[in-house]
This record gives sequence, C-alpha cells and structure tokens, in this order.
Amino acid sequence: MRGTVPTHTAKSRLDEDEVPTAATLRVLRPRRASPTDVARPTRAEINLAHVRHNLRELEACLGEGTGTGAARAPRTEVWPVLKADAYGHGAPAIARTLERAGVSGLCVALLEEGLELRNAGLGCPVLVMGGYYGRHRDGVEALVEHNLTPVVYEASQIESLVSALRYVRSAPDRNGPSERLAVHLKVDTGMARLGVTEADIAPVLAALRQAPELELVGLMTHLACADGETLAYTDEQLRRFAAVDALVRRAGFAPRVRHAANSAAMLQRPDARFELVRPGLAIYGVDPCPALPRAGLRSPRLRPVMEVVTEIVALRDVPEGACVGYGYTWKAARPSRIATIPIGYADGLSRALSNRGAVLVGGRRAPIVGTVSMDLTMVDVTDVPGAALREPVVVLGRQRGRLGEDEIGSAELAEKTGTIAWECLTSISRRVPRIYRQA
Ligand SMILES: *Cc1c(COP(=O)(O)O)cnc(C)c1O
Repeated sequence: MRGTVPTHTAKSRLDEDEVPTAATLRVLRPRRASPTDVARPTRAEINLAHVRHNLRELEACLGEGTGTGAARAPRTEVWPVLKADAYGHGAPAIARTLERAGVSGLCVALLEEGLELRNAGLGCPVLVMGGYYGRHRDGVEALVEHNLTPVVYEASQIESLVSALRYVRSAPDRNGPSERLAVHLKVDTGMARLGVTEADIAPVLAALRQAPELELVGLMTHLACADGETLAYTDEQLRRFAAVDALVRRAGFAPRVRHAANSAAMLQRPDARFELVRPGLAIYGVDPCPALPRAGLRSPRLRPVMEVVTEIVALRDVPEGACVGYGYTWKAARPSRIATIPIGYADGLSRALSNRGAVLVGGRRAPIVGTVSMDLTMVDVTDVPGAALREPVVVLGRQRGRLGEDEIGSAELAEKTGTIAWECLTSISRRVPRIYRQA
C-alpha cells in the first residue's frame, strides 16, 4: 500500500517510485501523479526528442570552441545533470534518453537520486555531487553496492567509503565493485558551498593515498558567476582550480578528468570546459544567459523540453465592475469573459503571477486575472474570440492556434516572478503528471 514502508517481503511489489537499496536503506520517494491516475487535464509534456536535440547542440558547441583541425583538443565529455528529478522532467526517462544518445555519464545531487537511476536500469557512471551519503553506514554501503561515483572533499568521507567497500566485498550476500571505486575530488575555489580549499587539501590527499581501494578519477569545482558579466570572478576560480590541480598531480595523483562547467560556463568559457562539462539547464532547452555576448562562440539552438498545458474548465461572462478571485484583487473594467483553468500554485504556477502572468489560448495571450489559487486560476479571455470549454491552454510553452502563435518560456515566467528558470521548472509539482513524447 502507498505510504507504508516497503519491507523485504514486499519487494516484489516495489514499483519505480520505491527504490530498493542495500539491505537496511529505505528511501521513500513521494509519488508523482501518473497519467493514468488523473482526471484533470493539466499535464507536463516532456519532449524527449528535444533532449536529444539539445545534447547534440551542446556537443556541436564543444566541437567549435576547443581548437581547430588537427589541433582540436580530445573530445570533451558531456555529463548532463539530472538532480531534482531531472529539473522536474522525470529523471528515469531523461536518463534513458541521454544514455541511448550516447552520454558517457550522468550527474545527480543526492545519493537517493543516484539509486533511483540505478533502479531504473541505468548502467552508466553516475556522479553523486552532493557529497552526503547519510548519517549511517547504510548510505555509503548502498552507494558502493550500486557502483555510484561519489564526490569527496573530506578525509572522513574517504575513510567511510573504504570501510564500506571492505565490508561489502567481504559479505557473501553483497556485491560491491570488484575494481577500484572511482571518486571525484571536489574543490572549493570560491563558491564557499562544498569542497576542499587549497589550504585544507593535505589531509584529504593523505587519506586518498591510504585508500588503494579508491581511484581518484576526477577533479571538480563549481563556478559561482559563470552566467554573470564579471569575468574576473570566474578567472580567479579557474586560477585556484589550476593551482589545486597542480598540487594534486604533484602529490602523485592523475585524475583523468577535470570539470568545472555548468551550462553557462560551457557556453561562455571554453577555458572552463576541460575534459568534461556538467550542463543542466541547457539540456532541458533553456539558455541560462542568452543576453551575454558570445564572441566567436556558437550559441546553441535549444528547444525547451517541458510544456505545461491544461484546458478551460469553466467560462463566465461578468459585467463591468465585477471582481475575480480571492481578495477581489481584480475588477473588470469592461464586461469580460473569464475562463477558469485547473492549475494553481500547488502545481507550481507561482502565486506571484497573480494579475501579472498570462497563458496562451488559441495561440494568443490571455492575462491571468485575480490571485492564483491553490488549484485554479482565472484568465481574461475577452480578447480571445471563440474561447470555449475544454479548449487547450498553454501555461508554459509554445502554442499555435486560430488566432496566432506565441510562446511563454520559463525565462519569462522567472522574470515575472522574481526568480530563475531553474526554480520555475523544478517547481512543477508532483501533482502534475508527466507525459513523454518522442517527437
Ligand atoms: C546544478 C549543477 C550543475 C548544472 O547547472 P546548470 O546551471 O543547470 O547547468 C552543474 N554542477 C553542479 C555542481 C551543480 O550543482
């Protein structure tokens, strides 16, 4: 039954949302509405062909900025970031699409997210970037057993990985990797979030040296200002990264890959691409900094992957002076036609769009009027002739209709609500079923 802790005897009933893990680790994931469970017409359409397209576009960008002809650097690997349920798109489907499209690895933030991908049958390397593997041994053991690739930045993480590896290998009923476990070392070059600083690196390298079970394959950092205009911040972070890289190599390690670039950095800074890049947002079809100049660099032609659509479920004509919604924050300045759509802030349509946002009906913008409520929102369709019950409404995405064609992107929603496209996408809640399309 939903909501109960899955036991081992119940294992056969585990579905995609309940992740079976190491013996004692139970990770419950709240269940997302599935298309077959819902009566309401509100849904997020996820276009997997666009995921493939965006990956190819990003690869094309990498191909151009890294030198020409024979001097071209070896191919930079793309490890897309699938944290937060692939930015709200549904991690298993996005991961399968990317794996089939040939990516050599994937990144997530949480151990739980890595386990979800393994449970969905993904076999490629999965980098767990967050660095927290639980308060108890079972987290580290699950990580090891599922051959996930941890990010480390503290001696204690390295020690607990080694101890879990030894245990799992010695236990007859457990299966750890037979080779050395790949790890990536995370360096804090200025973000002050996670990672070891240059000043504190000695004990971490010492712990790695005493851990022959582990192989340091990657050196990574994260850039704080790659989508901003001040290049000097990124310059300084890259300078510190180079210093730590030199230190690590002098200490006898030879990490195969260095990586620093999120979407913005991979598009703006060829000098931050190194051997591997970690784009998130761009994979989902959104350019993090379309307005920044990209002298000599290719700008990818990205296609948004997610659209949020619904239908008109109620229509009414109101006289001039009538009010709409909680708090009566909108008053009709003329006789108006008001449509109700079944999506609200609990679905991820920000309440900040009250009297500010718009949706598309018939290919034309219809303004949101009154306050967005939890489940419902009203829009003014007075200027949308022929608006009808059950008519499709686009909340996020492009619509071509009898009255024209228009698009509402996540960047526009973000602008209107004082946030960023990342938050708009990850806010689409589990109440909204994801429908996957291949074209
Ligand atoms: C989220 C994240 C990324 C991807 O960032 P985008 O801006 O979405 O491309 C890359 N690296 C790390 C460490 C992250 O946390």
